[in-house]
Amino acid sequence: MEEDGGGGYLFKIVVIGDSAVGKSNLLSRFARDEFDPNSKATIGVEFQTQEVIIDGKEVKAQIWDTAGQERFRAVTSAYYRGAVGALVVYDITRRTTFESVKRWLDELNTHSDGKIATMLVGNKCDLESIRDVSIQEGKELAEEEGLFFMETSALDSTNVSAAFDVVIREIYVNVS
Ligand code: GDP
Ligand code: MG
Repeated sequence: MEEDGGGGYLFKIVVIGDSAVGKSNLLSRFARDEFDPNSKATIGVEFQTQEVIIDGKEVKAQIWDTAGQERFRAVTSAYYRGAVGALVVYDITRRTTFESVKRWLDELNTHSDGKIATMLVGNKCDLESIRDVSIQEGKELAEEEGLFFMETSALDSTNVSAAFDVVIREIYVNVS
């Protein structure tokens, strides 16, 4: 576990999942309360740091974005190195992205060591009318894999902070 130099904690959290599931927008919604309807592949930002207070202690969550590497199946081991938390994201309107979740979990397990607080995230829950993966399926997969689970919308903000908060708190429990 890293210290941030001032005696506080620094938690590295990675956001993974297929291209266009909304990873970058979940991060920008959480860190800056922004949503970009036209977000192209990526802007090149590697990570954003968000401070939270838990138990009166300052925790810095350093949240990493793939910066589009996933389109080329080229998420590097450096991306995962030192991660203590993860959000594995799929798009509830595209079943193929849900079917990729196990591959992402394998990759996460291969490249990281130790306990990773992991949340399965079904994003774009604002698009109920074109849903392709049921809430039940998401829950069952999460249970099977021992993950937390939430459906989110980076567009209307549903559960975005909640998803990151649960992961950050779980990491805190794991280290304290
Ligand atoms: P990434 O490739 O996983 O980083 O995905 P992006 O964050 O770039 O988002 C891909 C596309 O999905 C963009 O057009 C976003 O505007 C859109 N998008 C992302 N999150 C949501 C959401 O929660 N709801 C809806 N309706 N669209 C979203
Ligand atoms: Mg992106």
